Amino acid sequence: MSTGNEKQKILIVDDSEMNRSILADMLGDEYEIVEAVDGTEAVARLNLDSTDISLMLLDIVMPNMDGFEVLAVMNRRNWIQDIPVIMISAENTYSYVEHAYELGVTDFISRPFDGQVVHRRVINTIMLYAKQKRLIELVSDQIYEKERSNNLMVSILSHIVEFRNGESGMHVLHINMMTEILLQTLMRKTDKYNLKRSDIPIITMASALHDIGKISIPGEILNKPGRLTKEEFETMKTHTLIGAQMLDQLTYYKDEALVKMAYQICRWHHERYDGRGYPDGLAGEEIPIAAQIVALADVYDALTSERVYKPAYSHEKAIDMITNGECGTFNPLLLECLLESTDSIREQLAVNSIKQESDRNIRNMTEDLLHYEELSASERTLRLLEHERTKYQFFASLSSEIQFEYTKEPSMLTLSDAGAEMLGVAEITMNPLEDEVIVGISEGRVLEEIKNLVTNTTMESPVVQYDGELLINGEWRWSRIICRSMWAHEEKPDMTGCIGKIVDIHEEHSKIKDLQRLASHDGLTGLLNHSHAKRLVKERLHDSDGKDYIMAIFDIDYFKNANDRCGHMFGDKVLQHMAGKLRGSTRDCDITARVGGDEFMIFMEDMEGIDNIIDRIFRALSGKYEGFDISISMGISRSRETGRRYEELFGCADKALYTAKQAGRAQYCFYDDSMKEILSAISSIDGEE
Ligand code: GH3
Ligand code: MG
Repeated sequence: MSTGNEKQKILIVDDSEMNRSILADMLGDEYEIVEAVDGTEAVARLNLDSTDISLMLLDIVMPNMDGFEVLAVMNRRNWIQDIPVIMISAENTYSYVEHAYELGVTDFISRPFDGQVVHRRVINTIMLYAKQKRLIELVSDQIYEKERSNNLMVSILSHIVEFRNGESGMHVLHINMMTEILLQTLMRKTDKYNLKRSDIPIITMASALHDIGKISIPGEILNKPGRLTKEEFETMKTHTLIGAQMLDQLTYYKDEALVKMAYQICRWHHERYDGRGYPDGLAGEEIPIAAQIVALADVYDALTSERVYKPAYSHEKAIDMITNGECGTFNPLLLECLLESTDSIREQLAVNSIKQESDRNIRNMTEDLLHYEELSASERTLRLLEHERTKYQFFASLSSEIQFEYTKEPSMLTLSDAGAEMLGVAEITMNPLEDEVIVGISEGRVLEEIKNLVTNTTMESPVVQYDGELLINGEWRWSRIICRSMWAHEEKPDMTGCIGKIVDIHEEHSKIKDLQRLASHDGLTGLLNHSHAKRLVKERLHDSDGKDYIMAIFDIDYFKNANDRCGHMFGDKVLQHMAGKLRGSTRDCDITARVGGDEFMIFMEDMEGIDNIIDRIFRALSGKYEGFDISISMGISRSRETGRRYEELFGCADKALYTAKQAGRAQYCFYDDSMKEILSAISSIDGEE
């Protein structure tokens, strides 16, 4: 058994030296740490001695013999009952955890763990097991020492009496304890009474039976709140003789030392040294010493306990009353013993019961642990951390990535050396989101967006990414920011910050942008192509409820002539010129496109004064270009008349354009319903040709 001074041992089984070292640092102050580098070594250690290990911290994945195999061995050899095991592992899938519990682990901590949590769980587990162990030891000690004397029967019997007396349940325990203390003190003082060590447990146990005769006293007398009448008191006094008689009638056992002793105690524990007690009026040493001791203990406990007819007196007051002779006369030698054992009596009675004692021990232990101070890292951990840091720095320097770490408390951003240089900021920045330099490295709301994304992560899905432009080496570059939120594993998960990296995706991003541009724009004029414009127009028509729009389609008159007279290249230039004019005469919110050939489209809101706007655009698009006279024909449709479907809008503008051409070109024409018939007539003529 532990002497109380030596540290309890914790066996840490983990193949990573770093992990062992961190755990050892956390717990090494209070516990003695034993380490094993794998399952085989752990089992070997337990084989050597499994009784001195108070707790085992066990990793799952290890070479040679893994955590589950260790648990299997511990089960086969019944070690698992005596050694609590806490599993620590990054493998926290349900099946793993379930399997670990099946194999008898007490607790499961997933990695990465929080130091305080590990610490608390270790303490809880050790305390729980210690309490259990103590209780088992207590019970087995009692059984071992007192089995022959049928301790259990005696205590049950005495408790029956006690409860019938309406007493607290503590009286027998107190009498036991005081009898033992007084006996020991007496034996140290004198051998006059011929007491042997072996008498102590017998007398102590027999003391529990002192009031057994009360079983036959009527309940109304036993529990009468007021003072007893003379007759009632006479009845009460008979409990001494009745108890003795009960024991005397135990034909088979009455010669047992315990029964003989109990007889004396029952009969004479109300006798007084001066002969004024009852039932026999014995005086001085005529009263057996065991009965004298129990008498004194009984009086003391009656005084210090609350009864229906009196309050509980203090220890001092009780001692005063006894020594003053207020409760009858006692053996002076025993009074000396009482005075000498005052401290231990007071101490033990304060503790009151074994249960409370163990509770108190646990309370003390907990209090000590609560005052546990800052964890300190040992030399070894520092060395290992330094090693990891060098490794990390080396790999970080090889890549063109920028690595960073953000902690919430304190609010601090740490960048890799190279990263800080590339971004032109300090390696460490406090309150980065309020720092002008940091905010200045990003375009728009990039940092805000990242912050929101990270804030909304969970422990289960901690990784997020965001693309945005960052000022890297003085140049705006498209970058991908990948972040992983970090968590403390408390009862409630708590985000402590994040780690992440910034990857340059500028080239890739530009290529994609180019491709997107190519797919949506006309290569010659840079205007939107028809299919992309169509999509945008449809979206606009769909999204903006209530607004009216117009669509204008125009075509260059006699454009073939430009090609024919000055060549195709010149024709191209004319088209580019027209695109420029178109851009210049419309707003950014309008949609303009090259529909194909020498045909263009304008889509804009139908607002007040639209006629003037159309007229202005029309004039802007007409004129001379390098000696070539440019005129256009334009057809315009209005959603108010055609409805909000793209096909209708486009078709009607096209019909109006046709009408403008037919009417002699160099003009614009709004669509109206009359065109329906004209056009269908024309198309039927065309069809006949
Ligand atoms: P209209 O007044 O009836 O519009 O007569 P037009 O000569 O303009 O005839 P139309 O609009 O039907 O002809 C368009 C011409 O534009 C036909 C084609 O040779 C020419 N063209 C189409 N695409 C291009 C191009 O990308 N570059 C050049 N240079 N010419 C083009
Ligand atoms: Mg044309």
